[in-house]
Amino acid sequence: MIRRGSKAPVRELTAVGALAAAHEHMTDEELSTLASFSWARKRLPPRDALSMFAPDPCEPDPVIMAEMQQRTGECRVFQVQGGCRILFPFDGGAYDASQFAIEPKAWDHERCDVCLEPIPAMTPCYWADGRSSRLLICTACHQRYVKPKQRRRWWRFWE
Ligand SMILES: [Zn+2]
Repeated sequence: MIRRGSKAPVRELTAVGALAAAHEHMTDEELSTLASFSWARKRLPPRDALSMFAPDPCEPDPVIMAEMQQRTGECRVFQVQGGCRILFPFDGGAYDASQFAIEPKAWDHERCDVCLEPIPAMTPCYWADGRSSRLLICTACHQRYVKPKQRRRWWRFWE
C-alpha cells in the first residue's frame, strides 16, 4: 500500500542509530499504479518546524517521538554539537513550548516518494491524493512513471 506519512526520511535519520528508519522502496506494483492518480504540479513553500534538542547520546524521549511521528508523520534528525536537533514539520496548532521551539521555514525540503531524492522548497514537483494518503514525487519520477502512461485527451494534441 502506498502511504505517505508513515515513513521516516532516510538520510538525516541514519546518523542516529536509535532512531534509524528507512524508507521502503515502492514495489513495481505500486509504481505501476502511479499513473492512475491525478497529479497536480506544485511548488511547495518551506514549512515551519518544531525543533527539539536531545543531548548526547541523542536518545530523545520515546513517548514524545512516537507522539510527534504519529502527528506529523515525519521527522529529521541533525547531529549538532553536544547532541542532536530534531525537527518536525509544523503547520500551526498547539505544541508543548517546554519541549519545542518554532523554527520558521526550517522544513525546507520534502522527499520524493519514489526515488527519495530531496525536493527543495519551491521546486516544481507533483502532488496527488492517492487512495489512502497523499503522494509527492519529483519531476524526474513524474516523467518516468506517470507521463508515458497518461492517456492524452484528444483535444490536447499539442502535448
Ligand atoms: Zn523522484
